Amino acid sequence: MTHKFSGNADYLNNGNDLVVVLGHGQLARMMYLAASQLGINIIAVDADRLCCVNPVDKTVLAVDVETAFAHCIAITSEFEHLPKELLATAQATGKLRPGANSIAAGADRIVEKQLLSSLSIPNCTHRIIHSVDDLTEAYKTLGPKVILKTSRDGYDGYGQWRIFSERDFASISNELSTFDFGHMPLIAEQCIEFEREISLLGITDIKGKHHYYPLTENHHGDGQLVLSLAPAPNNSDELQNKAQQIHQSIANELNYVGVLAIELFQVGDTLLVNEIAPRVHNSGHWTQQGCQVSQFENHIRAVAGLTVTGTTTDKQVAMVNYVGEAKPSKTLQAIENTHLHWYDKSVRAKRKMGHINVVANTVTELQTTLKQVKSQLPESLAKNLAKVVD
Ligand code: ATP
Ligand code: MG
Repeated sequence: MTHKFSGNADYLNNGNDLVVVLGHGQLARMMYLAASQLGINIIAVDADRLCCVNPVDKTVLAVDVETAFAHCIAITSEFEHLPKELLATAQATGKLRPGANSIAAGADRIVEKQLLSSLSIPNCTHRIIHSVDDLTEAYKTLGPKVILKTSRDGYDGYGQWRIFSERDFASISNELSTFDFGHMPLIAEQCIEFEREISLLGITDIKGKHHYYPLTENHHGDGQLVLSLAPAPNNSDELQNKAQQIHQSIANELNYVGVLAIELFQVGDTLLVNEIAPRVHNSGHWTQQGCQVSQFENHIRAVAGLTVTGTTTDKQVAMVNYVGEAKPSKTLQAIENTHLHWYDKSVRAKRKMGHINVVANTVTELQTTLKQVKSQLPESLAKNLAKVVD
C-alpha cells in the first residue's frame, strides 16, 4: 500500500502541534479542516482497524496509534462507541480531552441517566430493562407510549423500538424473547409530548471556563436530525440560562474540556435532557457559517489549550442535513448564502452525506432562501423543510 505521508518525520515533526481524534468520520474531517488554519495537524484513528488515517482523504498513515499518542498534545474523540482498550490506552496518556468518564457517559445510556439523576437534572422518566418481565412492568407504569432504547451503540435513531400500543407491546415483547439482556440492557423511556427539541452546545476551555453558542432548534425525521434552526426561534435569556445551568452542572461534574452537546426536550418552561454527546455535534454544524468561530475550531482550541472565542451570532441560520442522496446540483450550490459541506462518502440510505448551511440577516430572508433551497432538493429531503417553509 502506498502511503501519502511516507514517514513519521513529515507528519509528526514538522513543527505543528498534533491532535489525535479517535474516529475518522465527517466530524474528524471537519475538525481537521478547522485545525489546519490554526497550524494544528490532526491524525484520525480508524477505531475498527486501529490505524492512523488522514480524515479528509482517508489515506492510511505510516505511523502507529501509540506513536501518534506519544507525539500529540491532546487526544479527543468524534464518537463514543469506541473499543475499551483504545479508550484505556488514550486515557492512560493523560492527554484525553474530554476524558474517558465523559465518553462513558455519552456511550452508555445507563451511566448517562445515573449522572443526570445524581445531579438532579430533569430527564425522561425511565426504567432499566434486564428482561421481558422488566419490560412488562415498565410498560404498565410508563405506558401507553414508551420508547425502548439499547443502552449502548445507538445513534441516528438506530437501536430503538417505539411501543405505542398494546399491540406493539405484544409484538416487541415477542421479538425480545431471545434477546441477550445480559450483554445489552435496555432503557424504557416514557414518550414525551414535547413542544420542541432544542440543543445547547457549550465549550469548556482548559481553565474550566464555559462558553456557549445560542440554543438551536432541531427537527427529526425517522429518528434522525434533518434540520436545525439557530438561534432557536423564540429563544429567551431565561431559556438560554436554564440550559446553560444544566450544561455547567454536567461539565463541572465531568471535569470537561471541549464541546459538550446537550439534547433537550422543551415542555412549556421545563427542559428535560434527552441525551448528552461528549463531542462536536450535528446540531452545531450551523456555527461554521453562523459564528465567528465554529464548534470544530473551538473544540480544537479547547483541547489544545487555546482561547475559546466567537460563539455569538447576529445571523439567522438553518442547517439542512443531506441524507442518503447524491451530491446536489450546481443550481442548488449557486443559491446565494447557501454553503454546502460535503463529506465524500458513497451514497447509502439514511447515511449523512453532507449538510447545507443557509445564512441570513433576518428570519424573512432565511425563509426566502430556504424556499429556493427546498425547490432544488430531492423530494426525500424537501419534505423535511415543509414544516418551516410553505
Ligand atoms: P441521535 O444520534 O440522532 O442523537 P439517538 O439514536 O442517539 O439519536 P435519541 O436522541 O435518544 O437517539 O432519539 C432520537 C430521537 O427520537 C430524538 O431526537 C427524539 O426525536 C425521539 N425521542 C427519543 N426519546 C424520546 C422520548 N422519550 N420521547 C419522545 N421522543 C423521543
Ligand atoms: Mg439524540
